[in-house]
Amino acid sequence: MVHPNTEVRVVSPEIGLGVFATKFIPKGTIMYVIDEMELIFPEGHHLLTDEHYRKYIEKFSYTDQNGSRIVSWDYAKYINHYCDRNTISTGYGFEIALRDIEAGEQITDDYGALNIEETMKCYCGKANCRGAIHTNDLLTFAEEWDKEILPAIQQLNKVEQPLMYYVDDITKSNLENFLKTGKNFASVKSLYYDRVKVAK
Ligand SMILES: [Zn+2]
Repeated sequence: MVHPNTEVRVVSPEIGLGVFATKFIPKGTIMYVIDEMELIFPEGHHLLTDEHYRKYIEKFSYTDQNGSRIVSWDYAKYINHYCDRNTISTGYGFEIALRDIEAGEQITDDYGALNIEETMKCYCGKANCRGAIHTNDLLTFAEEWDKEILPAIQQLNKVEQPLMYYVDDITKSNLENFLKTGKNFASVKSLYYDRVKVAK
């Protein structure tokens, strides 16, 4: 589920749809959470071997740390990748706003944290564009990304969190524990799903 103060708009004919903030959203806000209504396709699910379904699942899903493909029931699936993204996945499963997002600004994400199956060329055109998103970006950049995520997580209890209700209890307790003690921060690296290892 994506943050309620957002809407879908056409970005451009080339890019298609994107998700935009309808109100100011402060840094540290949970922007996406896996909720009980998401469609979950674990590895071996029969629809993944049905080409008529698989093409849609591949296009609209991300892969979690267990190798399950998640298709959002809402328009979270239209969030685009930009290398200067304002939102990113965290080791707590949800996505967080890395900086303040102004009304009208596009919500953008880092597909490098979504366990993509093949290298994707990036055309975001931003100064820091990585040129391509690689399947192992999570391993390459986890440390760097954690440094960006940490200050956003520390804002968590200081801003409005319409999506907090949907965060599962174990994650909530891990978060509370980290915010209280500063210990056991969950690295974004924990989201990595090693396809190569699993195939062996
Ligand atoms: Zn880029």
